Amino acid sequence: MALTERVIYEYSAPGRGAADQWPAPTGEAELSDLPAALRRAEAPQLPEVSELDVVRHFTRLSQLNFSIDTHFYPLGSCTMKYNPKACNQYAMLPEFLARHPLAPESHGQGFLACMYELQEMLKEVTGMQGVALSPMAGAHGEFAGVAMIRAYHRARGDDARNEIIVPEAAHGTNPATATMCGCVVREIPVDTQGDVDLDALRAAVGPQTAGIMLTNPSTLGVFERHIEAVARIVHDAGGLLYYDGANLNAILGKVRPGDMGFDVIHMNLHKTFSTPHGGGGPGAGAVGVGERLLPFLPVPLAAKEGERYRWVSEAERPQSIGRLSAFMGNAGVLLRAYIYMRLLGREGMQKVGEFATLNANYLLQRLKDAGFDAAYPRRRASHEFIVTLRRQARELNVTAMDFAKRLLDYGFHAPTTYFPLLVPECLLIEPTETETREVLDAFVAALSQIQKEAEQEPGRVTSAPHTMPVRRLDDVRAARQLDLTWKPTAPS
Ligand SMILES: *Cc1c(COP(=O)(O)O)cnc(C)c1O
Repeated sequence: MALTERVIYEYSAPGRGAADQWPAPTGEAELSDLPAALRRAEAPQLPEVSELDVVRHFTRLSQLNFSIDTHFYPLGSCTMKYNPKACNQYAMLPEFLARHPLAPESHGQGFLACMYELQEMLKEVTGMQGVALSPMAGAHGEFAGVAMIRAYHRARGDDARNEIIVPEAAHGTNPATATMCGCVVREIPVDTQGDVDLDALRAAVGPQTAGIMLTNPSTLGVFERHIEAVARIVHDAGGLLYYDGANLNAILGKVRPGDMGFDVIHMNLHKTFSTPHGGGGPGAGAVGVGERLLPFLPVPLAAKEGERYRWVSEAERPQSIGRLSAFMGNAGVLLRAYIYMRLLGREGMQKVGEFATLNANYLLQRLKDAGFDAAYPRRRASHEFIVTLRRQARELNVTAMDFAKRLLDYGFHAPTTYFPLLVPECLLIEPTETETREVLDAFVAALSQIQKEAEQEPGRVTSAPHTMPVRRLDDVRAARQLDLTWKPTAPS
């Protein structure tokens, strides 16, 4: 492994440093207030480096990374689209940043107004009756949703309902969430076209059914065509319908889960509504509910009375599933999402859905024309689609992972690889609505070139990447024996 970068400690030289740019606190008084047991006995081991060393080190590190600002990033299911800089700028206004979460409502009317309007806009785009903003990730929103479904059944004394039906085309977080909420997961298959197998669904529902969690569009990149039949079957059996709306950009401004009969939905504001995400956060997984689940929404909620905004208290909502986060959840992410929606407006949001699907279908068609195999060739793509490299793996011994690694050499972030598990040797490709046709064409050209290499000199592909600072990692060791602690070598 050719790791060209050093850690900052390796630049350290005794006595080197940078001039203070901020007056140091006078210190002594505060320090003596700390109990002796909590104070350091030794000075911390910090790197001793010049300011220029620090600037160069971190600038170089940042340039080693793939990011949306530098590369096409078609990571399926993750919606790595462009995040307008204006959203960042407005969310970082000092009046927002310096606001203390415990300050009285009268001092935070602007922020409260933003949260209230965000709730209202999300109600409008999803067709739901109420929205709570505090969950801090998509999976956290799922947790809130299933917790509400359970609370609903319990409140009616219907304690036997503890089974959550999950089609196999669901996102992996869905069965995990149901299990976390103490439910039993019942998996049902999808048919050869990627839709829910209705006979299997009919056979699975019963008095034990708490609900179904449906990812739509599914992780196969297709929109569920039997959605109304699914809703009818589950509701008739007394279950509720959960909509995984993490990939809402596929349908934004076109159809609304509330109109399809769903009782609860979570959205990934960090995906659809454009805030920087990845590497574990931060996120915002707002939940929307229909009439039946309104009393169970988590707190806090923003309310409007006349011209004043206020937080709804827990005392006012005795059936609420309670708090899921400190204060408002990820306030900064919520603000960015709010600003993004305000910048787009109603018309702009419709265009999101149109361009997300147009870009995906354009790219799918061009890849088919170039000889690649679509996993569902008879289906139109939603915002993403699957290419399977099963043929290449069988005939050329070059796998989806090899293609993904070689793409890095061509300056493209790899698509999602080997997910969903349903399709062998798959690449799940999501171009997003923010890319131009030229970028998509260049991506097709790169994949076609790699196909040629796979036929003529497969070793080039199977040993890729060749131009990255890190070559292939041992994925298992990286996951199981992760060691990120740098230890100083003894001075020579
Ligand atoms: C991303 C995603 C999730 C999980 O969201 P996190 O914010 O990563 O927890 C759930 N479902 C689908 C369909 C997703 O794409």
